[in-house]
Amino acid sequence: MICIAIANQKGGVGKTTTAINIATAMAATGWRTLLIDLDPQGNASTGIGVDASQRGLSTYDILVDNVPVDDCIMQSRIPGLDLIPATVDLSGAEIELVGVEERTHRLRNALKHHQGHDVCFIDCPPSLGLLTLNALCAADTLLVPLQCEFFALEGLSQLLQTVEQVQQRFNPDLGIVGIVLTMFDRRNRLTDQVSDDVRECLGKLVFEAVIPRNVRLSEAPSHGLPALVYDHACAGSRAYMALARELIGRLPQERKAA
Ligand code: ADP
Ligand code: MG
Repeated sequence: MICIAIANQKGGVGKTTTAINIATAMAATGWRTLLIDLDPQGNASTGIGVDASQRGLSTYDILVDNVPVDDCIMQSRIPGLDLIPATVDLSGAEIELVGVEERTHRLRNALKHHQGHDVCFIDCPPSLGLLTLNALCAADTLLVPLQCEFFALEGLSQLLQTVEQVQQRFNPDLGIVGIVLTMFDRRNRLTDQVSDDVRECLGKLVFEAVIPRNVRLSEAPSHGLPALVYDHACAGSRAYMALARELIGRLPQERKAA
């Protein structure tokens, strides 16, 4: 299984929207896909139609109580897409894990021998705390959603520093599969400027596919559906399909079922 963390310490940049829709696109392409909700807000869980009342065992139980991953996986209503949900308990996990041995490796250890999925996406919370650290230690690679706004590059350099530290101390194999520009608005000149700067600075690391600001993407979660199911033809859905194709081209195919 290839494990991809979707992280950016800023909130509201499109992490969860990207996690839900890229996971759905991969499932539609025939990859057995697992979505892991690592944000106590549980937006990824809600966004694919799993309300708080339907959630059983969750990422909290994996991290804090060593519950096996298989016990926490639930099917979603999207064929080929499974979920490990998050509950509000998870907000206490960072404190509960203080002093626990290998606390940065709880998720990695839990996923180590997991079989039955080709790819998993971890939707991270908006911080660089212990939860995100667990994701970065478990992941083969990182996908960064970046909103085209004035401070985008500063936030990014902080994230890249963290990645370097994780590579040095915990997970030398952690890669960065790419940066995706989100909430892109062609009519806004600042957006254009930031996008140019980011591409100049980071080159091929930035995906060609750009996610436009699109109201269908923001409506879909309230129906408990990925945008790709809610309205597969909208500009946002098409952009996420293009992103998935590009992502697949960047992944080591031989690892698919390994
Ligand atoms: P994060 O997980 O980084 O906090 P979200 O994916 O939850 O970000 O996005 C924040 C808000 O912006 C949500 O209300 C979401 O529906 C909306 N949103 C995300 N991406 C887009 C987009 N491309 N166009 C319009 N709205 C978007
Ligand atoms: Mg989120």
